[in-house]
Amino acid sequence: MLVGRYAPSPTGLMHYGNAMAALASWLDVRREGGRWLLRIEDLDRERCHPQYVDSLMEDLRWLGLEWDNQGSEVFQSERSELYRDALTKLDRQGLIYRCFCTRAQMASISSAPQGEQRYGVQPVVNPCRTLTKEEAERRLLRGERASCRLILPDEPDSYYDCRYGLQSIGSMSKMIQGGDPILQRSDGMWAYQLAVSVDDMAMGVTLVTRGMDLLESAHIQRFIIGRLGGEPPRYSHIPLYMGADGVRLAKRNGGNDNLTVSYTRNVRGIKPGNVLAHLAVKLGLLPDTETYITLNELLDTTL
Ligand code: GLU
Repeated sequence: MLVGRYAPSPTGLMHYGNAMAALASWLDVRREGGRWLLRIEDLDRERCHPQYVDSLMEDLRWLGLEWDNQGSEVFQSERSELYRDALTKLDRQGLIYRCFCTRAQMASISSAPQGEQRYGVQPVVNPCRTLTKEEAERRLLRGERASCRLILPDEPDSYYDCRYGLQSIGSMSKMIQGGDPILQRSDGMWAYQLAVSVDDMAMGVTLVTRGMDLLESAHIQRFIIGRLGGEPPRYSHIPLYMGADGVRLAKRNGGNDNLTVSYTRNVRGIKPGNVLAHLAVKLGLLPDTETYITLNELLDTTL
């Protein structure tokens, strides 16, 4: 059975970009009669707040986007053990190293010209990759803090994105922006690439529908899932929602309050069907003259 998921981070009110991803994912799954699961990506304790979890659930219900794990939603903040096991498995395969670089050091490594440069991507060679285990241990014992990074292979990777077509890179280690991703931060916080891979695998997700800013991340996640012994899901990335100013919406830029679902819910006269039509137009499912549509009618359109 097809299993999809919606995986918001509760760092702010759900804006139209988030709602567009939820709608696209819901439609992809419901068209095939699959299961649609909600996962709350609340690893960042400082930026995530429970009131945003409540409001996003209300927003989804108001839009009619019901999820199948109601009452047993997955919260990443409760899954440390799973992430630790996965990190250990990767470590045993020699795929993890300790990185002592600060943010500023990483920024200067990324901007310094090094190695070959293809397609405008600057390969990042992390100096900590070549530290011996003993040297890393010594530095940890001295009280230095380190993150855990994944060693990206020099191998190519390709997958077929359901909307954007073939995604292919010649070398993971040379072409992934920013180089080897962090899997656990130096303060112990689990990082996105590890948590999302572990969870998609553990939840049996077979189709990931989400914003196209994560097209490249899929290469990393496919690799992690493969190394953990799983089968990577299919991916279907969608365009990002651009505000009237042509700028991508972000939960942080508070100036866009009127583009949040909770704001819209309270505007007299606006119905979920108006918002659904607006999002469907942005997704290219409806001509831009349409102002109202139901979820059932949307199930008959094709993306
Ligand atoms: N939590 C991420 C976000 O809210 C989405 C991650 C994903 O769908 O893989 O942007």
